[in-house]
Amino acid sequence: MAPSVPPRCWGMTEGFTLAFILILAATIGPVHAENSFDEHQNELCNIVDELQFSGTKANQTVQWQVDIGPRTPGSQASALLRANFTAEAERLGYIVSESNHTSHGIEFTNLFARWVSSSEDADQLVLSAHYDSRNIADQDRNETNRSMPVPGANDAASGAAVLLELARLIPSMNLSYDVVIFWNDAEDQNNNYTEGAKAWADNLTLEEQERTKAFVLLDMVGDADLQLHNIQPGNDTLKERIVIMGRDLGMVDGVEDCTGLPGQDILQYSTTVGVLDDHVHAHALNIPSIDLMDTVYGEPKFGTFGSYWHTMEDTPDKVSAESLAYVGRLVELGLRTNAFIIEEPSIIFDENPVNENQNQSSQSQADSKSGSKTLAYIAMFAFLSVMALLVNFERPRKPR
Ligand SMILES: [Zn+2]
Repeated sequence: MAPSVPPRCWGMTEGFTLAFILILAATIGPVHAENSFDEHQNELCNIVDELQFSGTKANQTVQWQVDIGPRTPGSQASALLRANFTAEAERLGYIVSESNHTSHGIEFTNLFARWVSSSEDADQLVLSAHYDSRNIADQDRNETNRSMPVPGANDAASGAAVLLELARLIPSMNLSYDVVIFWNDAEDQNNNYTEGAKAWADNLTLEEQERTKAFVLLDMVGDADLQLHNIQPGNDTLKERIVIMGRDLGMVDGVEDCTGLPGQDILQYSTTVGVLDDHVHAHALNIPSIDLMDTVYGEPKFGTFGSYWHTMEDTPDKVSAESLAYVGRLVELGLRTNAFIIEEPSIIFDENPVNENQNQSSQSQADSKSGSKTLAYIAMFAFLSVMALLVNFERPRKPR
């Protein structure tokens, strides 16, 4: 809407003063918005500076798991993994427990390590990954391999290792909520999937459901060529926060991270992939859930999660300490900012973040559009004021 002509003739000083104020307001607005964005990023970057996650140590745990052999449910390797993880978690001060189940003829064991916070009646966050490896390499190109168990370096020694490394850091974080590290079993056997996570969800009491504020799943997160996609189903707020944090950690293509370097193309949340994974059971209970997963392991292969997936080629050389560090640091940052506790983050997260780049550019377009609109108003208003002024000045000179 164009401004209407002032009802009276304005003096030169009044017109300039108003124009000056309007120009000042138009200039200060965007500068102020930019400052608060920078402040927000500084706040996150200060926490990024404190991150301690070691991708190298996580990678050693991947190698160790592959070295002990296939971790199929009920195997000696499976029991050895639990014994080692239990010893480490108990040494760190966690309360460790197991639950045994049978489903579709598979006997399996879920493993839990609970970090109890000092807050009374604290909420809890569940971090999960499956620790079983698949019993058959049914996607292998070599037919004779298809009945063999996979080495499972990425699927899913990677996620299990990242959780163990996070377990080492959590006690020093002084969190206000409990963290349950849940190594689930029987995710990936024959045509039976997510049995361990389902057994957990089926046995959760109503009280436990209510105090569980989020379920964060890691699956195939060690791929040396890491690409994390937008996995459905999943909680939108958790996804938005993952993208905001990932941007500052250099995981969003071309977007400057906290060190000022352009980000890698790791968080590809414009690509949505539907995956039936462990998190679906928590999601079905209305627990905010997210699956951090690489859905292209090796070359893309139609109808699968890549050419190394469920093959004998899922070996430690395809996994990198760098990729494990990206994911580990992302989750560590989420823990340190309370990002996964949707109602109580300790910093302010942006409103609109999944397509952050897109939103940022459309936001700045909107800013510049409204800015130029304001300038057009000012120009027109100044023009009309000057015209009115001239009419006013000329009036006495007019002959009667
Ligand atoms: Zn698998």
